[in-house]
Amino acid sequence: MEKTLVILKPGCISRGLIGEIVSRFEKKGLRLAGMKMIQLNDAVLNEHYAHLKDKSFFTRIKNGMMVTPVVVCCWEGIDVIRVVHDMAGKTNGRDAIPGTIRGDYSVSVQENIVHTSDSPEAAEKEIKRFFLESELYAYQLPYLHSLYCSDELE
Ligand code: ADP
Repeated sequence: MEKTLVILKPGCISRGLIGEIVSRFEKKGLRLAGMKMIQLNDAVLNEHYAHLKDKSFFTRIKNGMMVTPVVVCCWEGIDVIRVVHDMAGKTNGRDAIPGTIRGDYSVSVQENIVHTSDSPEAAEKEIKRFFLESELYAYQLPYLHSLYCSDELE
C-alpha cells in the first residue's frame, strides 16, 4: 500500500485542531504508520519548500511554519497520496470546497492547516525527510476487510 506525508501546520496546532484533523484521516479508513511533534527550522524548510524559493512570500511562509512545533504524520492506504491530497483541498482556503479540510477550516492562502504530499515522488522524499525508518510502524488494522474488498487487497 502507498504512504503519504501530512504536516499539521502551526495554525492547526494553535487553533487546537490536531484531534479534529487526525480524526478525519482515521475516520476515512487510513492507517497511521507514524506520528510525531517536531520543531521545523530554516534548513529543512528550504528543502521542503524549494519549489517556492523565488516567490516573494518564501520567507514569510517559512517563518509561519516555525511559529509553533508541527505534527508530522505518515498515513497508509490504497491510493492514499491522491486521497489525502484531495481531502486537504485547494491551497487557498477561500477556494477550497466545503467538506475538504481547507474548505472547512481555512480562510487563507497561507494559513491552510495542513501540508499533504502531492505525488508519489514527493511522498517518498517527504517521508524520508521527516521520519527514520524505525519511526514507521507496520502493524495491521484488524478491520482491513471492512475497509476494502478482497480484490482491492490482492
Ligand atoms: P500546497 O500546500 O497546496 O501543495 P504549494 O506547494 O504551492 O501548495 O505551497 C506551499 C504552501 O505555501 C501553501 O500550502 C501555503 O501555505 C503557502 N503558499 C502558497 N501560495 C501562497 C501565496 N500566494 N501566498 C502565501 N502563501 C502561499
